[in-house]
Amino acid sequence: MIVYIKSSDGMLGIEVARKKGIKNINLSVKPPDGRTVVSAPLKAGEREITKFLESKAEWIVAHRNKIILKAKNAPPEPRYLSGEEINIFGKKYILEVEAAEKFGMSYIDGRAVMKAPPDGTAEQRQACAVKSFKALLTREAGKKIAYWEEKTQLKCSSWSVVRMKSRWGSCNVKTKKIRLSLMLVHKPPECLDYVIVHELTHFVTRYHDAEFYSHMEKFYPESRKTAGLLKDK
Ligand SMILES: [Zn+2]
Repeated sequence: MIVYIKSSDGMLGIEVARKKGIKNINLSVKPPDGRTVVSAPLKAGEREITKFLESKAEWIVAHRNKIILKAKNAPPEPRYLSGEEINIFGKKYILEVEAAEKFGMSYIDGRAVMKAPPDGTAEQRQACAVKSFKALLTREAGKKIAYWEEKTQLKCSSWSVVRMKSRWGSCNVKTKKIRLSLMLVHKPPECLDYVIVHELTHFVTRYHDAEFYSHMEKFYPESRKTAGLLKDK
């Protein structure tokens, strides 16, 4: 069903999907094109849905414009071709792709040298880079986790490096497992310290409360400054 509502940006046609087993009307605006997705309970009437969407019209327009603007300004996805810049722990490397039989990557004097078959695809080159980023981050994180566990006397049961874009790290306070985002490989090394201390501190208190930040600062006095670095693009 398509519902038409008035907004300051003209008429909006919004597709509504009826779904079993949901209680409320759910509304979200999706990247990269600001598409509006609505799901509604089977029993919700068309008038009710229309009224709901009318009350959200300006919110939808504002969010859609924000998402479209963000997508426009986003840097292009790397293709992993010679000349591209790669940031490793806050240092810039220029990528040089060399023809070889097998994929491999190494970092020498400000150059990131990727060996790749000439007929390799962008996806394969990306996989090769990701594998190397993962190895670099795993090596650094291993050293830093051992250091911070000793310093804070808090220990994790295991940790892993994962590809997640929505957050820098996460932990399970029950199982004491820590996950670090692969994106940390592109940030200055202090950011990795910050995220490790942050996740370990959750073993003292799971919330971001006053106790949490007082421990954080005790363990890692530079934490405020580093938190700023994490926010930089
Ligand atoms: Zn946290």
